[in-house]
Amino acid sequence: MNLEASIKMPPKSEDSTLDVEVREDGIAVVWFDRPEKSVNTLSYSTMMELSDALDTMATNSEVKALIFASRKPGCFIAGAEITDISSITDPEVGRTKAAQGQAILNKIEDLSIPTVAAIQGVCLGGGTELTLCCRYRIAGDGSKFKMGLPEVNLGILPGFGGTYRLPRLIGVPAALDLILSGRGTPAKKAARIGLVDRVVPERGLMYAALEMARAAIAGAQGLPRSGRRNPPKGFSRFLENTPMGRSLVFSTARKRVLAKSGGHYPAPLEILDVMPKLLGASREKGLALEAAALGRLVTTPISKNLIGLFFQNEAAKKVGTKDAAANLDRVGVIGAGVMGAGIASLLVRKGYTVRLIDVAAPALATGLGRISAELSKRVKRKSMTETEAERAMARIAPSTDLSDLAGIDFVIEAAVEDLGIKKKILADLASQSSQPRVFATNTSSIPLAQIAEGVAPHITVVGMHFFNPVDRMPLVEVMEAGREEITNLTFGNAADRVLDLARRLGKVAIPVGDQPGFLVNRILSPYLSEAVMLVCEGASIATVDQLMKKFGMPMGPLRLLDEVGLDVAKHVASVLDGEKGANRFQKMIDWLVSRDRLGRKTKRGFYVYKGKGKKVREEPDAELVSIVSELFESDPEKSPGDDEIRDRLILALLNEAARSLEDKVVYEPAQLDLSMIMGTGFPPFRGGLLRYAQEEGIGTLVDKMKSYATSHGTRFEPCSLLASHAEEKKPFFA
Ligand code: NAD
Repeated sequence: MNLEASIKMPPKSEDSTLDVEVREDGIAVVWFDRPEKSVNTLSYSTMMELSDALDTMATNSEVKALIFASRKPGCFIAGAEITDISSITDPEVGRTKAAQGQAILNKIEDLSIPTVAAIQGVCLGGGTELTLCCRYRIAGDGSKFKMGLPEVNLGILPGFGGTYRLPRLIGVPAALDLILSGRGTPAKKAARIGLVDRVVPERGLMYAALEMARAAIAGAQGLPRSGRRNPPKGFSRFLENTPMGRSLVFSTARKRVLAKSGGHYPAPLEILDVMPKLLGASREKGLALEAAALGRLVTTPISKNLIGLFFQNEAAKKVGTKDAAANLDRVGVIGAGVMGAGIASLLVRKGYTVRLIDVAAPALATGLGRISAELSKRVKRKSMTETEAERAMARIAPSTDLSDLAGIDFVIEAAVEDLGIKKKILADLASQSSQPRVFATNTSSIPLAQIAEGVAPHITVVGMHFFNPVDRMPLVEVMEAGREEITNLTFGNAADRVLDLARRLGKVAIPVGDQPGFLVNRILSPYLSEAVMLVCEGASIATVDQLMKKFGMPMGPLRLLDEVGLDVAKHVASVLDGEKGANRFQKMIDWLVSRDRLGRKTKRGFYVYKGKGKKVREEPDAELVSIVSELFESDPEKSPGDDEIRDRLILALLNEAARSLEDKVVYEPAQLDLSMIMGTGFPPFRGGLLRYAQEEGIGTLVDKMKSYATSHGTRFEPCSLLASHAEEKKPFFA
């Protein structure tokens, strides 16, 4: 296809994004190709270019059809320019900017000629909104294809007409699902819901777009209908086309949003308020309502926090050495338990070949069963085809013989948490050959320096600490044996391969120091033990957990302890050595462990678990509640109140976080905040633990700590970093 033929437009200048060609057959192609960037965005200047180009098209009678396409591999348009959004502090400015964007995209919709979006790779936010103004959309089915409206993840709503146009194209339930979840949709699903009209192999995308443009010019039969693509039938018709049905759809969605977010996020609620009003409205009125809603949302502190988190995430992708793991395709995984199976499953899903080793054949079989079940679940959810799942499974070669790892130079170790066993595995690997090898251990608590002590020089010990469950927890902590302090964001050695591999697996990889507990578990320890001490003082199990859930944590600390296992949590006691209350903590945990109440795995811990699978219900263990006052002689009159419970838990987290910064376990506050969000589910809307502290006032929190230090023990004494920040009124973030 010669697209270079007969260009009648001025050539693209070096700093412009758009390149417009008008072909001899009258079909114009607007190419997006933002200079010196890997993705296209709808920045202010790109929108202005687009506006000019559309004005020219509208008056050029030689142009018979228009195609929008991208020259960036793997990206159509990634969305609006987020730096343009983050700087808005006035709702009226937000509203005006949205209205300007809408007016430019309206020009596409208002063209009298056929318009086709030829979409390949990432097409999100403003990119999707641009395509919604076209008459036809064709998807190039490649591995990077993703189409959707992720604005809700930034605390806003689609403001370039997305909330107005999407329900008209694909119906209210499907539109709500895309807008409220912020999820990107693969090509085939996009076609199924009517978001695109055709799916073609990526290589044939421009051919298909030209063919469709020609057919449209010729007025051919059989082209996709205008407006709603898949008209609803049966009950769906009732849901969409009757006021009662719609009201049911919106009220169900509201209940779901509230249950999921606890009402902490204004954007989905605003979307649910605005969308019903847009359904029957004229374009002018509907878009005005949408722009006003965008103005209100974009200036909220929650949106600013979520946008900050987006930037932190982007920055985290740049740590280490780019492409350090580019040549890696085979990985050895030792241990087929909970973590090893999870890691192996992730690796094969991402295309790696895995040799999975476990000493015990039954454990290996259970691990393989787990992987197979996880892949089947994905097939059921349609995030993977059956063939893809079969191919992934075929990439695993299981074995009980460690010598089968000979020839593999990158090994992830997830055997039991036992220094002797880990050292023995290392020694066996070292004796297999003298080839240089990376030994990436998933240990959660053993200092790497101890594991690496005396190891043969051709083996490099690094840490690759995944969180459980591996498929859902986005964080991976990366360590180098013996490097206690993180003073820059590259290791300059094998650990950079780990950083890069983790990123290739879709994880957020953070370099952390080789210090006890590394970062996230260290910060969590005092928080979890404080929760236990509160119960020993008479606080109710349910109240402690509910208060933290209300704060925005995904689960309360006592429920989390049950999940981790109380036998594992016994280690936490060492953190409290010599502290006021430490004896109580110890006594409580010992009482539980000695009665085999190890938490979720034994169906009894702080809670009693009844039922199976998804139907498991937990309730605070009544027996435990009854023994507390007896065992600890706590006075119910003096049980801690809600404010005290919340304060003590948050302050425990904060003090240890600041201490970790002070000890240089983590490079900077932004990396710490990101780790807490990705590793513990610390509420994203709060922007992170340190950002939350800053918003509350570091001085105020330090004063509270001093007061609790007097009443409850020196563990609340603010660490010197916090004290100095408070004294000098120094923020964590500029
Ligand atoms: P697990 O008990 O579920 O699995 C451990 C597996 O290792 C078992 O299948 C066992 O048979 C196997 N194994 C024991 N000795 C071995 C050897 N010499 N060679 C090969 N395999 C051997 O444990 P897990 O929860 O998967 O934990 C594994 C590692 O990951 C531990 O170091 C743990 O601290 C760490 N970790 C666990 C979690 C978690 O929440 N479970 C989270 C992060 C890190």
